[in-house]
Amino acid sequence: MNVSFTDEELAFRAEVRSFFENDFPQDILEKQNLSIPLSRDDTVRWHKAAFQRGWGAPNWPQEYGGTGWSTVQKYIFADEQARANAPAYLPFGVSMVGPIIYSFGNDAQKQRFLPDILEFNTWWCQGYSETGAGSDLASLKTRADLDGDHFVVNGSKTWTTLAQYADWIFCLVRTNSDVARRQEGISFLLIDMNTPGISVKPIVLLDGEHEVNEVHFDNVRVPTENLVGEEGKGWTYGKVLLQHERTGIAGVAGSKYALSRLRTQTGTAVRGAEPLASNRIFMRKIAAAEVELKALEYTELRTLASVASGKAPGPESSILKVAGTELRQQIDALCLEAAGYYALPYVRDQYVVDFPDADRIGEGDETHSSLRYFNDRKVSIFGGSNEIQKNIIAKHVLGL
Ligand SMILES: Cc1cc2nc3c(=O)[nH]c(=O)nc-3n(C[C@H](O)[C@H](O)[C@H](O)COP(=O)(O)OP(=O)(O)OC[C@H]3O[C@@H](n4cnc5c(N)ncnc54)[C@H](O)[C@@H]3O)c2cc1C
Repeated sequence: MNVSFTDEELAFRAEVRSFFENDFPQDILEKQNLSIPLSRDDTVRWHKAAFQRGWGAPNWPQEYGGTGWSTVQKYIFADEQARANAPAYLPFGVSMVGPIIYSFGNDAQKQRFLPDILEFNTWWCQGYSETGAGSDLASLKTRADLDGDHFVVNGSKTWTTLAQYADWIFCLVRTNSDVARRQEGISFLLIDMNTPGISVKPIVLLDGEHEVNEVHFDNVRVPTENLVGEEGKGWTYGKVLLQHERTGIAGVAGSKYALSRLRTQTGTAVRGAEPLASNRIFMRKIAAAEVELKALEYTELRTLASVASGKAPGPESSILKVAGTELRQQIDALCLEAAGYYALPYVRDQYVVDFPDADRIGEGDETHSSLRYFNDRKVSIFGGSNEIQKNIIAKHVLGL
């Protein structure tokens, strides 16, 4: 595989780097460096900055207002974004429901929803999982019953990320129970979060953060025009969406820069102690992670190339998801090890325990490594747990 970049690609890299250095809201990068969660306003603001630059949807075709970037350009963009420690695009609109709407929606839906996703005028959330229907998603119970020109939705979704901010939710709902296979009779519905009968209940996590929610539907009337594609075919559309989601969760570029920051950090002597770089056992662990990461990067490039040739990512995105998330958690553990006990008592933007010596490692990555370590437990669960991905690999990749 030829991995050298052309002059045009190098110029593109410089353009992207300049965007993050000059035109991206710098206060948001500072928050990122301190692992301070972004507010709704922060998230909207930086997405709009990307939109202003013409980069509202790096993964969409130009026809719908996307960048129309080549695989290599997408790779370079993600690489520079991670290098700047900038936040990743919120996936629910631009990476999830957007591609489903332009692939399977009708013209009216494309005109109505895509421009607002592109400009980040609407915040979307994902309503798939339910209590008892996570891994076994086909057993979902939320119903949408036809009543004239509306569906009446009843049921509950759970683990709905950032639903407290959302304007719209895309849901998998059961429209027909009289089916031979449970995967049939499920439909893909777009629901305005302001519709009467919807309530959002926070799930506060162990670290005190409010990242996920329950969303309850009580006789919620949804116009039939909000049904995407054919009734009963939601499982097929939902599966395509999950494959895109899994490719993104691998987080290769993010891991690359987390690891390179860690390597830089090991060269610094802290509190008069030898730099970590002199600890051969630790450095061997970093080297092993770097080798893994390089292999993963090539696997991701192959998947991107396949998507660029018009194919959906396919079941091999499960390999990326498992390998990428295991590696990310491995890197989180190394960062934690590097910070030692200084990583322990940090919650949000304050120390829970104050250290007697003010000479901490720094206010950067190290002291926030515990936050990242704990929060990233989720990456091997959401988007379909890693155990489920291994089942998919066994069945659809290995043919077992
Ligand atoms: C932080 C976070 C954010 C999320 N955000 C969203 C969101 O925005 N929208 C949304 O719809 N969902 C979201 N989810 C839900 C997520 O997709 C589910 O948690 C996930 O699919 C697992 O389902 P479950 O939690 O019901 O666990 P279960 O399905 O009950 O699984 C429990 C355990 O059993 C294992 N297991 C289950 N079945 C099998 C099997 N057949 N073979 C082997 N092992 C098995 C699983 O791997 C897991 O370890 C989020 C989850 C988290 C943690």
